[in-house]
Amino acid sequence: MRAEIFDALSGAEKPASAYDLAEAVSKSTGRRVAANSVYRILDVFVAANLARRIESANAYVANAHPECEHDCIFLVCDVCGRVAHVDDDKLAQSVRGSAEQAGFSRLRPVIEVRGCCADCAEGDAA
Ligand SMILES: [Zn+2]
Ligand SMILES: [Zn+2]
Repeated sequence: MRAEIFDALSGAEKPASAYDLAEAVSKSTGRRVAANSVYRILDVFVAANLARRIESANAYVANAHPECEHDCIFLVCDVCGRVAHVDDDKLAQSVRGSAEQAGFSRLRPVIEVRGCCADCAEGDAA
């Protein structure tokens, strides 16, 4: 079932919630899949760096570069819900540095930007 969930996640156009994935996999396999089991598998994916959680959308995306361990900055479109991601290790390091100075450890920076994507902005203008 892991492979099926991962396929559904990487095929999704926007961040998928556990419920979205449970539904997609139930449909594609003809077996009912509970969102709870999807959550457990998503946790495994996140721990293995294969997927990332978009906190502000309560949803997940497949990790675009599972081989590198950095803090992705996600751009979340308020209109269509799609997510883009940018990497700015200097910014992430500076966030980590400030958190450490404040006495925080085991850091897991969550940097997300909400806004309107280029496609949706174009639609607005038309
Ligand atoms: Zn990244
Ligand atoms: Zn958009």
